[in-house]
Amino acid sequence: MMTDRIPAVMKRPRTESVQQNFFSVIDLLGFLGLDIRFAPHEIIETSGFPFLVPQSFAERMRKRDWHDPLLLQVLPRADENIEREGFSDDAVGDAAAQAVPGLLHKYDSRVLFLASPSCAMHCRFCFRRHCSFGAAPTEAGAMDRAFRYIAGHKGINEAVLSGGDPLCFGAGALDCLLQRIMAVPHIKTVRIHTRVPVADPGMVTQAALDMIASVNSVKNCVVVLHADHASELVADCSQVLTRLRATGAVLLNQSVLLKGINDSIEALCGLSLALLDHGILPYYLHQLDRVRGTWHFEVEEETGKRLVKEMREKLPGYAVPRYVREVAGEKSKRNII
Ligand SMILES: *Cc1c(COP(=O)(O)O)cnc(C)c1O
Repeated sequence: MMTDRIPAVMKRPRTESVQQNFFSVIDLLGFLGLDIRFAPHEIIETSGFPFLVPQSFAERMRKRDWHDPLLLQVLPRADENIEREGFSDDAVGDAAAQAVPGLLHKYDSRVLFLASPSCAMHCRFCFRRHCSFGAAPTEAGAMDRAFRYIAGHKGINEAVLSGGDPLCFGAGALDCLLQRIMAVPHIKTVRIHTRVPVADPGMVTQAALDMIASVNSVKNCVVVLHADHASELVADCSQVLTRLRATGAVLLNQSVLLKGINDSIEALCGLSLALLDHGILPYYLHQLDRVRGTWHFEVEEETGKRLVKEMREKLPGYAVPRYVREVAGEKSKRNII
């Protein structure tokens, strides 16, 4: 699986060297002043998908609160090991959608690069937590195959960089990939799907911001962030988002509807308003992908529909995300309402 590889973030020299990652849930709970004996759920050390939480993300959690919405996203619960009917390793059919290794082609006009095997943080509800491919473009020849495929499909007008997280790709490798994408005449838009600015803002270097600005001067550059709760968009994260906005790229956000985390009208409206404060438009609210080990995060679709209807009554249309689910084999994400 992809997380067997050492995430780049662990190898990376840091400019602000005081920043640390938490590699153990016990250490994080200690930092938050929480005693595991009083945990409302059984906690496990790991379950094959290692624990990884950046210091910055931990600092945005409320101390001594088991129900903090940031903590709940990264807290490994024994529930992960309980098998549930309908939850599988590759719920969204990624393996079948590989055009060549490391390149997914599900939707006619856009391809998706699995540009990096690692992430800055391990969200327990990750839909690629069992992903056994990815990062193939780094292997000799795989990159050439990906670009030959794109050259042969003139209907592709957008390249999405995902992973893992493309901003965890070594700077040189990311630059190389972007240069090759920008050289393809029929690619008009370069989209970067990243949680790094939210998970570990200190990893967003000036060089990365300059790179985004330069992509945006040649093609349309769209950055799709991933925040699930307004409490993520504070402190150093807020500052980095302001700098990201200055690149001129279009900023969007995708979130996942998560039980006990953002399944309330207050949390969803709060997230939309906090995004708007940073010049980011809510794009997708995803129904949880039914991936093994994530069932305890699932919110019923009926609840989701009711919440989104209520959001429409409270917010301008542009601040209401599209509530979607991904169905393997379909030619676009499916609108739930
Ligand atoms: C979600 C996704 C996209 C992007 O879809 P949009 O609806 O354009 O945001 C592209 N490729 C793959 C494989 C995806 O899963």
